[in-house]
Amino acid sequence: MPIYLQYYFWLLLVSGVVLVLERLVPRSPAQEVLRPGFVQDLFWMIFNVQYVSWMLAILAVHAAAWVNRAFFHVGLPDPESLKLIASWPLWAQFVTFFLIKDFLEWNIHRALHSYRWMWRFHKLHHSIEVLDWAATFRSHWFEIIIYKVIIYLPLVVLGVNDLVIFWILVFSLLISELSHANLSWDWGIFRYVLSSPRFHAWHHDVELHGKNGQNFGVTLVLWDWIFRTAHWPNDMAFPKEYGLKDGASYPRGIWARMWEPFFPRYFRKRKVGKSLPRGSNEGAGLEK
Ligand SMILES: [Zn+2]
Ligand SMILES: [Zn+2]
Repeated sequence: MPIYLQYYFWLLLVSGVVLVLERLVPRSPAQEVLRPGFVQDLFWMIFNVQYVSWMLAILAVHAAAWVNRAFFHVGLPDPESLKLIASWPLWAQFVTFFLIKDFLEWNIHRALHSYRWMWRFHKLHHSIEVLDWAATFRSHWFEIIIYKVIIYLPLVVLGVNDLVIFWILVFSLLISELSHANLSWDWGIFRYVLSSPRFHAWHHDVELHGKNGQNFGVTLVLWDWIFRTAHWPNDMAFPKEYGLKDGASYPRGIWARMWEPFFPRYFRKRKVGKSLPRGSNEGAGLEK
């Protein structure tokens, strides 16, 4: 397989380019590459990209069998046989699936902020107190599974070409890294369509500007403008502080962050990391 069709090639290239941009035109020039929590975010990057994709590959085999059986029982054809848009040109498949996937993801993201059990997993992403390219990868693995499981059915039913899926993943990676980066641009008039460093920074504001938050779009943001969940102040370009309001009581070690959403009572009793001050180095070691 040529190197440009390998995800790791784009992961390294996109991360390298965004890192260089952060050095050339930073929003906060004083922010260092090795900021607090950086090493932990590298762990989440490797864990989420490598191990979670293995988990998903195994899960996909079982999910396919289960979905096929469920369709058969209610008298519907095998979803994999439908291939609704498989004969379309690749660009048309790209646009169609990208819009469907992105709208589903925007809804899932809103749900992650609205339901208490889902928020427990999403809290990890919002524990970010310093935004940069590596912060993109701070997500709980179970949250990734939720996204992929929900997007799995339309993907199969539509019969989207593998190349189309690959380029959507690469494009989403680029926009996601730029949105979290220590940069200050907003894409000008395209701010209403595409997520930018300025738009997504407000999603990480420690203050809420909507019922459960604001600016839920990760790649496309037009959904936030259409459904009035966008927050775009003209007077102040960026939030004063990022993170969780109750960040002081949120665990800081990898081990605790990995399992706290499943066993919140156990971790609440232990009050893991409560004594650590806000902004201190979060450490990369597994917390026992
Ligand atoms: Zn969020
Ligand atoms: Zn984010």
